[in-house]
Formats: sequence, C-alpha cells, structure tokens
Amino acid sequence: MDSFEYNANPGRVVFGSGSLQKLPDEIKRLNLSSPLLLSTPQQVDQANDLKQILNGKIAGIFTEATMHTPTDVTDKALAYAKESRADSVVSIGGGSTIGLGKAISIRTGLPHICIPTTYAGSEMTPILGETASGKKTTRSDPKILPGTVIYDVDLTLTLPASLSATSGVNAIAHAVEALYARNTNPVITLLALEGIRALASIISDPSSQPARSSAQYGAWLCGSCLGSVGMALHHKLCHTLGGSFNLPHAETHTIVLPHALAYNAPAIPAAMEKLAAALPGSEGDAVKGLNVLLAKLKVKRGLKEFGMKEDDIDRAADIAVANPYWNPRAVERDGIRELIRRAWAGEEAR
Ligand code: NAD
Repeated sequence: MDSFEYNANPGRVVFGSGSLQKLPDEIKRLNLSSPLLLSTPQQVDQANDLKQILNGKIAGIFTEATMHTPTDVTDKALAYAKESRADSVVSIGGGSTIGLGKAISIRTGLPHICIPTTYAGSEMTPILGETASGKKTTRSDPKILPGTVIYDVDLTLTLPASLSATSGVNAIAHAVEALYARNTNPVITLLALEGIRALASIISDPSSQPARSSAQYGAWLCGSCLGSVGMALHHKLCHTLGGSFNLPHAETHTIVLPHALAYNAPAIPAAMEKLAAALPGSEGDAVKGLNVLLAKLKVKRGLKEFGMKEDDIDRAADIAVANPYWNPRAVERDGIRELIRRAWAGEEAR
C-alpha cells in the first residue's frame, strides 16, 4: 500500500428522519440559549419552523442569505447578531445559507449548527468562499468547520427534482475528485465510493423518502471528501466559470463533471476503474457511467443554456490556465479550451 496521511475533521453529525426535533437538545448540550437562525428568502418557512421547535427561544431570524456569500450581507447579519445578542448561529438551507453561517462564526467565534437541505456538502468542510466587490475568494481554516450538523431527510423532500439532480451530481463531483486527489488515502476512497453509490439512488425515485435518505447519506460522505482532501481541475474550472460568468453552482458542476473527468482520464487509470465499478451502466467506462447518469436525470447539458456566450469560451480558457494548481494531468490551454467548448455546447463527454 502507498504511504498516506489522514486527518479526520472533528464535526458531530446527527442523522435521520425527524432529527430536526433534536435541535433543542443540541443547543442545550452546547450550553447555548440564544441562536440566530439563518435562511434564504425562499426558506423562511423552514426558519419559522425552527423557531417553533425552539419554543421561540431565539435571538432572531435573518433571512437574507444569498449565493456566493457576499460580504455586505454578512456585515448586515453580523450587526443583527450583535444587536440581538446571539450566542450561536443555526443555518438551515443549502451551501449559500451555510456559507453565511460560516462567515459569521469565523468572525465572531459563535458556535455554528448546520441543518443542510441540499447535497452541496459545505457543512462538512473547513472552507469558506466569499464575494467582495464582485470577486470571489476562498479560504480554509479548521475554525470554519461547523460544530454540529443535523441531517433530516424530511427537509430535502421539498427540494425541486431538478435541483435534487444537480445538487446530487455536485456532491458526486467531490467524491470523483477525491479519488484522484494528490493527498487521497484509503479511508477517503472508501467514503467516496460509498457516497457515489448512495447518491446514485436519487435517480430511482426522488419523491421516495428512502431514496432521499440514501442520497443525503451519500452527500454527507461526499462532503467529507471535499472537506478532507484537495480538489483539482473540475472544481477549479467550476469556480472560474461560476465566478466569472455568473453561472449557477450545482448546474455548472453537473455539466462540467464528465468533461473534466474525460480530460483527466488518461492520467488516472486506477481511479477510473474504481469509479466505473460504482456507477451503474458504466460498462467499465466511468465517463460513460456519468453520461448515463446525467441522461437519466434529464439535466441540462450545455453552459450556453445558462447564458454563457460563445465568445466567453476563450476568456474562460485563459482564466482557467492563468493560475497554476495541482492536477493529475497537465492543464494545457488547447485541451482546456476544447473541454470548455464541449461543456458550453452541451456535447456528450468522451
Ligand atoms: P443554495 O444554497 O444557493 O440553494 C439554492 C436554492 O434552493 C436557494 O434558493 C435555496 O433557498 C433553495 N433550497 C435549498 N434547499 C431547499 C429545499 N430543501 N427545499 C426548497 N428549496 C431549497 O445552493 P447550493 O447548491 O446548496 O449551494 C451553493 C453555494 O454553496 C455556492 O455559493 C457554493 O460556492 C457554496 N458551496 C460551498 C462549499 C464549501 O465547502 N465552502 C461547498 C459546496 C457549496
């Protein structure tokens, strides 16, 4: 066996249908009494449900969480946290709301309890991406990792089918890149493969609670991969495309993943073999397995469908190769341009 290093992240996970009801116990366990609840404007009802579960014992509710964690929203939430004397933050929502929780927690030291409602995985990572003056920067700090995560499958039942599909593929992308990460290790490989298998179940029936539960379990494992090892071409490309061309997060991950994998394939034969075995219908070819999955999910396949212009392809390729980073295969402009062109046009990956 190759040498490796393994670092476990210390977060606590409470998993299961109805586990939202355990929030009061969790707050008591941590000796807290006055949490600030966070949500997006679209999930105000879920934040109000939390208030009820806590018998109204909260500092307040801030419902302006938004994509890419803009610092002006964080500043507003921070002022509210101070004014309402919050002693903790509870984020209920997807990566956008959890990002706001992380941004408040790292600035104030307030404990952060996360209640994820998508499969994006931010709750399991010590990473925070923030946007200031239109520029998104990312930092990593062990203190950013939320202390407790409550996974209640019932909250994912309202996730629209299209977002369930793309959010699930977003999670799978973490596991795929974990398989060939420079600092991967046997434990992360186990989590990644189990996570991919569990998530693939969302295609069976997104309205079924057992399938959703399995998908959420998979999202936890895939998020753990993201929080533990370094990502490569796929995540860097999605960061560039999302940030520079204002493309939606989960949808961009879904479109780019098979193309990024096809680009890296010649350099990662062992990972391709393991991945193919975890993807139904792959017939030994992991890229085919992803194509089959995306076809079943009936997701949009072209970045042009989200407003990216053909003229943007060259600029995207320039940005993608501007800052060097580790990738199993050399990141060369011609190949990357062709990858982006295919993803833009919605062509099948090969
Ligand atoms: P999101 O949080 O922006 O949610 C998308 C929309 O779906 C929002 O309107 C939200 O309110 C709504 N929604 C979420 N769950 C719902 C539910 N169960 N029912 C109904 N509506 C629901 O999307 P996301 O994909 O979860 O997160 C994307 C953001 O998270 C990006 O900014 C990304 O950069 C960040 N992210 C960060 C990390 C990290 O480790 N730092 C990891 C993954 C994603």
